[in-house]
Amino acid sequence: MRNEIIHNQTNQKTYTELFDKSYTSSETRLKIIKNNEKPVQNVRLLIQILSVLLSIWIGIEFFLFIKFLESGGNTIYIDRPPGVEGYLPISSLMSLRYFIATGEIHWAHPAGLFIFLAIVMISLTIGKSFCSWGCPIGFLSENLGAFGEKIFKRKIKMPRLLDIPLRSLKYFLLGFFLYVIFLAMDIISLRNFLDSPYNQVADIKMYYFFARISRFSLTVIIVLAFLSVIFKNFWCRYLCPYGALLGLAGLLSPVKIKREISSCIDCNKCSKVCPNFIDVAKKKYVISDECTSCLNCIDACPVKDTLYLKVLPSSKILNKKYVAILVVGIFMFITGIGMISGNWKNKIKLEDYFYHMERIETSEYSHPTGTN
Ligand code: SF4
Ligand code: SF4
Repeated sequence: MRNEIIHNQTNQKTYTELFDKSYTSSETRLKIIKNNEKPVQNVRLLIQILSVLLSIWIGIEFFLFIKFLESGGNTIYIDRPPGVEGYLPISSLMSLRYFIATGEIHWAHPAGLFIFLAIVMISLTIGKSFCSWGCPIGFLSENLGAFGEKIFKRKIKMPRLLDIPLRSLKYFLLGFFLYVIFLAMDIISLRNFLDSPYNQVADIKMYYFFARISRFSLTVIIVLAFLSVIFKNFWCRYLCPYGALLGLAGLLSPVKIKREISSCIDCNKCSKVCPNFIDVAKKKYVISDECTSCLNCIDACPVKDTLYLKVLPSSKILNKKYVAILVVGIFMFITGIGMISGNWKNKIKLEDYFYHMERIETSEYSHPTGTN
């Protein structure tokens, strides 16, 4: 039969050997069914592209809004897109603590809070999947890595002695932010920061950071991009504190990749395709803060029902095609709650923005200490 192969449990054979040759042995034989499930990588790519397009759209709207403010109201008025607050994760984390402590959604960047909650909820549900399905930086990083793989004809792995300490960097950064926001700041300091002129215009400050980028910052970005070509996902793997948080949240997700040891033919394809160097072929369950639920390994597995998503602690299997639905659905549901409940647009009036724009270069708009 075309879709069946003989599996020898004791000798390791390559996939090609197993499928293309008539493999005969006197040892134990098992019939193995070829995995004919369609890969989901095209769907993942589509969602990534839509996410990038959404970011570009938000970027254009925000650019036009700032031009309107800069002109003193003499160009076409474009509403400020609240989605820009998705790029303010520190402010969103502060809003989250403020919300936990007071039950109030802070008025400066409410959309940022909902986007942040949506992304964390995706991770709690289906692992660190936002990084590989929805994050525009993750998309860029993935493509820089793919470009590097084409150039070098292989995936370059950081030496283990460097990889482990470097991977801890993102946790140090995350730990620092969590310490400052949740432990070092009392609620009054937190409110002072959230109310501050700096926080109110944090999005505009971010725009100017890139629009008037310093030579030093540009050099850092170029170096990071260069390193991402050599070492896959350099930024995400070593430096992104947001990814670190999502990785920890992902560990709590009940959905895990399971390898069925009894039908695995040890072809190693799953390990080879993993962009995060997880040795899937040696695991029973993939439980890793680095797994981004990209599903490359499941798509690559040549044997039916051998690598799949399992919902722990039950014995339920989650079809891989539902990952896309969950990622998009959770994101739309939680951000939709923000929109429907009237907590999407911030409460900063247009005349306040004009006021801020006139003073944005003054010390009043520099980073506050958060103290009284
Ligand atoms: S283990 Fe699989 S799903 Fe996780 S990052 Fe590696 S290839 Fe992607
Ligand atoms: S689980 Fe990995 S090693 Fe086993 S058959 Fe599938 S791809 Fe090959």
